[in-house]
Amino acid sequence: MIPFVDLKAQYLSIKDEIDTAVIKALESTQFVLGSEVVALEEEFAHYCNADSGIAVNTGTSALHLALLAAGIGAGDEVITVPFTFVATTAAICYTGAKPVFVDIDPVSYTMDVTQIEAAITERTKAILPVHLYGQPADMEPILEIARRHGLVVIEDAAQAHRAEYKGQRVGSLGDIGCFSFYPGKNLGACGEGGMVVTSNPEYERKMRMLRDWGQERKYHHVFKGYNYRMDGIQGAILRVKLRHLDKWTEARRAHAARYDKPLANAGVKTPTAMPYSHHVYHVYAVRSQQRDTLQQKLQEKGIQTGIHYPIPVHLQPAYADLGDRAGAFPHSEAASKEVLSLPMYAELSADSQTQIINAVIAEYV
Ligand SMILES: *Cc1c(COP(=O)(O)O)cnc(C)c1O
Repeated sequence: MIPFVDLKAQYLSIKDEIDTAVIKALESTQFVLGSEVVALEEEFAHYCNADSGIAVNTGTSALHLALLAAGIGAGDEVITVPFTFVATTAAICYTGAKPVFVDIDPVSYTMDVTQIEAAITERTKAILPVHLYGQPADMEPILEIARRHGLVVIEDAAQAHRAEYKGQRVGSLGDIGCFSFYPGKNLGACGEGGMVVTSNPEYERKMRMLRDWGQERKYHHVFKGYNYRMDGIQGAILRVKLRHLDKWTEARRAHAARYDKPLANAGVKTPTAMPYSHHVYHVYAVRSQQRDTLQQKLQEKGIQTGIHYPIPVHLQPAYADLGDRAGAFPHSEAASKEVLSLPMYAELSADSQTQIINAVIAEYV
């Protein structure tokens, strides 16, 4: 069986380093925040080319804090895409603001920047692009539109650790960058985790306080805050893994290149890395009008795949109250019916890849 992701293979490849870090963290008894988390914040912010990092318990919390720091709340609107994981939309709703969707570009699967201006109203406060699958959204026009309309730009970089747009790391392109360290992400904890990065000292101060009950110092609550703190053990583990991320990213990119050529001639549409992007292939999604059959045939051959995502957020029952009907975002809706994510992880072997490629080709000849 070829799994869709193999967390065991990653753990075994660095077991000694992880085990040592965990034992050290246990012995320190810094179970919540602490020196390992502080060190991770500095190292990860530096890695993203941002001044500060604030470690949190999930990527969803990162998005929530970013929106709160930007002053977003009830009555405001935030422009985002419906073709994403539900957390992007959920975080906007947590603040009381209204998500306003624009469709994706059908080639990059990221925000169609030509639709943004028509979605702006006097209530719009922010644009929240998603660097889906590990490919940065087209940030230059997004930042230009935001500047012209006085909007904050918050990046959902949960799938895009180390991705670059025109040579610059994601997370530091907009005002605030949000990352997830969910286990299956390109940089994953052994549990939940997330981070916001920013170079704006006001946002930094506010997010640091909001993460820990809105405290300025112990028991002095300036804001109505949250418990969004990162575990000390996760901080220690993530510091170890961060040292391997460049190597793992290169392995993902090499696997993508190995998939690209034979699959491009095999009847499926392979992913397009845009000229501006250094794609980090969190997900390698091919596209086929017989997606469900293809998935089933691969499953029969012991090849696990995924669908990211089968229903766009505007068609989820939970968000029916936003009032967007089927047909409103045709590119998102078509993609959700046709994309199929093939196995992708740094440790994926050349043998497994050959089996996967041959299994896909077999469906189309
Ligand atoms: C994973 C993910 C999130 C949420 O991260 P969690 O750590 O699971 O809360 C948000 N946005 C996108 C695009 C994601 O893929």
